[in-house]
Amino acid sequence: MTDTTRTETAEIENPYVEVALTAWDALDAALQDYEPPCRDDPMFTTAERLSPEDHAFCESLCAGCRVLDLCDAYATAADVRMGFWGGHRHTQKGKQPAGRRTLPGPPR
Ligand code: SF4
Repeated sequence: MTDTTRTETAEIENPYVEVALTAWDALDAALQDYEPPCRDDPMFTTAERLSPEDHAFCESLCAGCRVLDLCDAYATAADVRMGFWGGHRHTQKGKQPAGRRTLPGPPR
């Protein structure tokens, strides 16, 4: 795995960036000796909407992942807007709560 730890020389003044980078460092460190179940699975990085079955599959993989909390902490701190992170799908509108697999439909 490549070393993606932030550089020591970066000057960071935005506290939100600092929190996100700290969360990234923690996640990156945990991934140095652990291969998460989502690795190389394109469903976790797609911007496309997932089917209910695919969403449930991603949730199930995350539920068994040992870096779940660190992954979720980073995605939340960085306000990730795409892909599946820490047990949640993230979209342009933000984090989609777990268990919400479809948007409400029109009234019948
Ligand atoms: S918690 Fe994060 S690292 Fe683990 S499987 Fe889910 S998306 Fe991948």
